[in-house]
Amino acid sequence: MGIPFQNTYAHLPARFFSKQKPAGTPEPVLIRSNPALAKELGIDPAWLDSPAALATFSGNEIPKGAEPIAQAYAGHQFGGFVPQLGDGRAILLGEVVDIHGKRRDIQLKGSGRTVFSRGGDGKSALGPVLREYLVSEAMHAYGVPTTRALAAVYTGEIVDREEPAPGGVFTRVAASHIRVGTFQYFAARQDTEAIQILTDHCIARHYPDAADAENPALAFLESVIRAQAELIAKWLPLGFIHGVMNTDNCAISGETIDYGPCAFMDTFHPDKVFSFIDRHGRYAWGNQPTIAHWNLTRLAETLLPIIDPEPDRAKELAKAALEKFIHHFQPVYLNHFRDKLGLSTDNYLEASAAFIKSTLGTLAQNQVDFTLFFRHLTLLAADDTRADLPSLFSDPQAAETWITHWKTFTKPDDHFTRMKAVNPILIPRNHRIEEAIQAAYQNDFSLFHRLADALTKPFAENPAYADLELAPHPEQCVKNTFCGT
Ligand code: AMP
Ligand code: MG
Repeated sequence: MGIPFQNTYAHLPARFFSKQKPAGTPEPVLIRSNPALAKELGIDPAWLDSPAALATFSGNEIPKGAEPIAQAYAGHQFGGFVPQLGDGRAILLGEVVDIHGKRRDIQLKGSGRTVFSRGGDGKSALGPVLREYLVSEAMHAYGVPTTRALAAVYTGEIVDREEPAPGGVFTRVAASHIRVGTFQYFAARQDTEAIQILTDHCIARHYPDAADAENPALAFLESVIRAQAELIAKWLPLGFIHGVMNTDNCAISGETIDYGPCAFMDTFHPDKVFSFIDRHGRYAWGNQPTIAHWNLTRLAETLLPIIDPEPDRAKELAKAALEKFIHHFQPVYLNHFRDKLGLSTDNYLEASAAFIKSTLGTLAQNQVDFTLFFRHLTLLAADDTRADLPSLFSDPQAAETWITHWKTFTKPDDHFTRMKAVNPILIPRNHRIEEAIQAAYQNDFSLFHRLADALTKPFAENPAYADLELAPHPEQCVKNTFCGT
C-alpha cells in the first residue's frame, strides 16, 4: 500500500535542490482524488481514501520512501531574467515508475515555505488548486501532454491574499518538473558541469534516443524543440492561452505545466491575453509559438558549452536546431485545424493554411465563440438540426458566406468523424471555473465535482451537461484570471 517512491533527482548533486519538509496543515479535508491516474501510477486506488493518503496529500506526513526536496531553478519572467526562483511553494515528494515504465514526479503545491520562498508564504489558496485540477485534467482528456492532478486538499487554514481565502494543497504528477529555467539556473552560475549532469538526467528520463546520437546535447536540444513545438501546436486549436509562458514555466518534457492565469477562450481573438499583468500581450493566444521559440532559444544558450567546445560552431548548430521549430509546429497545427474544420485532405496543405487563416480572421471579426463555432460546424457536417452557425456571428450574413466557402473545401464523406474527435463539446470555461471556486469558498464542492466529472469526457454528447456548453453572458465574463500568489 502507499506510493512506491524512488528519488533519482534527490540523488543528484546537492546544489540542484534543498532538502525540505512540507509544513503540514491543521485540519485537512480531501476534496477530490484521481483513481484512474493512481492506477496508472501503480498506486492502489483504494489507498486514496485512507487516512495515510490524506496525511501525504496535505503534507502532514512524509510517506515512507519519499525524500522531499525543493528544486532550484531560475527563469525569464515576462522577459526579465531572475537568477534564482526555485520551488517557493512546492515540494517534490519523489518519483514513481508508472505501469508503462515511465518515471513520474509527485509534487505537493502549496505545502509551505521553502528556502526559495523569498517573501511568499509558500501556500496556495484553494481557487488556484481547483483551477489547476480542472484545467490540467481537461487538457489530458483532449490528448494534450500535461501535468496531471492526483489530489486536491482543503487545508482548514485561511491564507492571506487580496481577500483572505481558504488554503489548499494540490498534488501534481509530471513527467518531471525540470524547466528551461532549471538549465538557466546553472548557466547563470557558469556551472557547465551541472548543465552536463542535468542534460544526462533529462536524456535518460525523457529522450533516451539522444544518448545514441553523434552529439547527444544537440540531439537533446532538438528533441525539446520538437516536443515544445508540437505542444503549442496542440494548444492553439483548443483556444488555449497558457497565460504565463515564462522560461520557468516551460517544461523540458514537453508537458504543459504551471497553470496559473490560463484560459480557454470564449470569443475568439488572436490577441487575447488572460493574465492581468500581461499588459503588452506578450503571452497572447497568437503569440505563443513565437514565445515558445524564444524560450527554447534561452535553453539553447545554456547548452552551447556542451554542444561544441568551439563557440561559433556551437551557435551554428543550435541555430539550425531552432530553425526546425516551425517545421515541427506547422504540420501539427495545420492538420489539427484541418480536422476541426473537416477539410478534405486532398487539398494542398498551403490551400488549407490560407483557408484556416481567413477563417480565424472571420471568427475574430464576428466575435464568434471559438468552441461553439466548431461544435456547431460539427453538427452542420452531420446535418443535425441543432446546428446554428449564423446565431454565433455578429453579422449572420458573414456566416452564410463563410459556409458557402467552406463547402468548397470539404468532402461529405468521412470528415464528420474526424471533426467529432477533435472538437470538444465541453471546455472548462472561465466563468464556470470561477463559479465552482466561489461555491467551494462557501464549502459547496458540488459545482467543482460536476465540472470535473463532465470534463473527463469532453467530446461526448451528454444532455445532462448541456448548460456547460454555453458561452458566458456578458455579465458572467471573467476577463482575467489571477495566479493567486
Ligand atoms: P509561478 O507563478 O507558479 O510560476 O511561480 C513563480 C515563482 O514564484 C516560483 O519560484 C514560485 O515558487 C514562487 N511563488 C509563487 N507563489 C508563491 C508563494 N505563495 N510563496 C512562495 N513562493 C511563491
Ligand atoms: Mg511556475
